[in-house]
Amino acid sequence: MQTVLSKRLAAVAEFVPQGARLLDVGSDHAYLPIALMEEGKIDFAIAGEVVKGPYESAVHNVAGAGLADKIVVRLADGLAAFEASDKVTTITICGMGGGLIADILAAGVEKLASVDRLILQPNNREDELRAWLMNNGFKLVTEEIVTENDKFYEIMVVEHGQMTLSETDLRFGPFLNQEKSAVFKARWQRELKKLEIALPHVPENRVDDRAAISQKMTAIKEAINESK
Ligand code: SAM
Repeated sequence: MQTVLSKRLAAVAEFVPQGARLLDVGSDHAYLPIALMEEGKIDFAIAGEVVKGPYESAVHNVAGAGLADKIVVRLADGLAAFEASDKVTTITICGMGGGLIADILAAGVEKLASVDRLILQPNNREDELRAWLMNNGFKLVTEEIVTENDKFYEIMVVEHGQMTLSETDLRFGPFLNQEKSAVFKARWQRELKKLEIALPHVPENRVDDRAAISQKMTAIKEAINESK
């Protein structure tokens, strides 16, 4: 039976180039490499996992799909899951915090020289991840935002290159903020509501905290075109 990906992982899969040699870091169940293989989009992948339980689940699923000769499952921390001889061209890192994704990239940054594309799906701290990419010789080539089960997920497609991002770009994403999709607006509307509820609870004497919240609210209103 064909593996059906969640909307979030299906959106990530769309950005994997045909014929890529894939490393999926933090693969857990290994659904992403399995589905890409079944689709015929790739014919070599490494599913990397640092925790034994998910690693075993990946081994089980890959064997169950009859793909053990094409998907190598490795118990490894981050980018330690691949060697130059694997000729990995694309790396996916999904479903983790943006800070952790940046730490994983930083810990093996020299190995990324031979990799063409990163597809990153942080669950939070997207701004921190964008800043790391900008400061380490990477550029965003596109971004997407999807919603599933009442959560919002940003996907960053990244290649080697230079980019300069403003504070606004770091927070909202240059492509996402340009496109201003309905999902993007809904995500930031929700954040704005949270801040509107929080502000009256911050004591009057905490001037800096109040100013920071107000500044964030103003930036969000501008991003979703509700500043007037
Ligand atoms: N990538 C899958 C997805 O998006 O559905 C699974 C996401 S799951 C929430 C995060 C996985 O990353 C966990 O299985 C965790 O063990 C793994 N992980 C966390 N840090 C890791 C690291 N440094 N190296 C490899 N795997 C890691």
